[in-house]
Amino acid sequence: MPQEPKKRHSRQRQGKRRASIHLQIPKGAACANCSNITLPHTVCKQCGYYDGRQVLAIKKNKNENRS
Ligand SMILES: [Zn+2]
Repeated sequence: MPQEPKKRHSRQRQGKRRASIHLQIPKGAACANCSNITLPHTVCKQCGYYDGRQVLAIKKNKNENRS
């Protein structure tokens, strides 16, 4: 049989442990070209720019966005 805890932990201790468990807001970085909020280190989906240069050719239509 496995070991069992001898005493229950207090609610204060439980709260201290769970204080570090929380949701995080995803980080966003503004695009240098169109100032659209995107994930950092990713190509901007609005204009297709990354690191100051055009990486993806973005079509204006709603169809495929791949070059
Ligand atoms: Zn952009």
